[in-house]
Amino acid sequence: MSHPTIERARERVLHQRLAADRGLLESLVTLPAQDVPELLALADEVREAYCGNGMNVEVLYNAKKGGCSEDCNFCSQSARFATDVDAEPLSSVEGFLEAARDAHARGAGELCIVVAVRGPSTKLLERVCSAVKLIKQQYPLHVAVSLGILREDQLRQLLEAGVDKVNHNLETSRRYFPSVCTTHSYEERWQTCMLVKSMGLELCCGGIIGMGETVEDRLEFLASLQELQPDEVPVNFLNPRPGTPFGDRSLVDPTEALRFVAMARLALPSALIRFAGGREVTLQGLQDLGMRSGASGLVLGNYLTTSGRQDDDDFAMLDRLGFEVLA
Ligand code: SF4
Repeated sequence: MSHPTIERARERVLHQRLAADRGLLESLVTLPAQDVPELLALADEVREAYCGNGMNVEVLYNAKKGGCSEDCNFCSQSARFATDVDAEPLSSVEGFLEAARDAHARGAGELCIVVAVRGPSTKLLERVCSAVKLIKQQYPLHVAVSLGILREDQLRQLLEAGVDKVNHNLETSRRYFPSVCTTHSYEERWQTCMLVKSMGLELCCGGIIGMGETVEDRLEFLASLQELQPDEVPVNFLNPRPGTPFGDRSLVDPTEALRFVAMARLALPSALIRFAGGREVTLQGLQDLGMRSGASGLVLGNYLTTSGRQDDDDFAMLDRLGFEVLA
């Protein structure tokens, strides 16, 4: 016999084809832990009904490491914290091409170019655009960029260069954001996200679970994402980095991590929900179950400053679970 809240969610999201509303999400966030497996199974059904069996596999390319002016408390790339990340200058165009070659050879369908900056300088943006033009000519990759806060003219340049998608995370709820970062505001992030959408670029917008936010913050965060309706929602779990202000936080409980992924699927049934950083350390032996909790994408192998597991392990897992890796 199903839990009544799960039945209500099934009726609304699977049968009526409506996204979970706030009341339903509030009930799901307090669902007893023993009923969470049933929630994950429902989210998996919703993923299949809305998105099919394809799994989007992405590789990240950190094209400019460290030295960032901002103070995001989770981030080891901030110049304000004494971390083990050594700042590196922006890669050459050849470096970008090498990264694209590597992503394609590893079987990824998407490359996300990331730079650790508040927002791009003219020179940085020009180099990214030059590189993206060449990547699009040479590789059948979907190209995303994560370049911080962006203006309309900068987004136009990216669009003209062939960029498909722009990542800009809200990270958490509006209420909790000032506890995460003080050098820029939630509103600035929101404005960039809105501009990305208005330019007709795909929007990738998610955040990090486990930074000290409350259950209410997670609901608020999901409500903001529902308002934005991003094409993709990357879900990261805090992997506490030594030297950062959040370096001593605990890992997220795996049940709560998967509960959030399932809730994100029910809140945004058609979106690409992607497991991003912190997957391996948080889920440990629950990787297979994780892929059956509503996600439709993952980041392969290495993250920006931390490493993941071997590509072969992830592809073997996707094969075992019957997913089709999207080219
Ligand atoms: S999250 Fe981005 S903006 Fe914030 S410190 Fe890290 S690189 Fe800079």
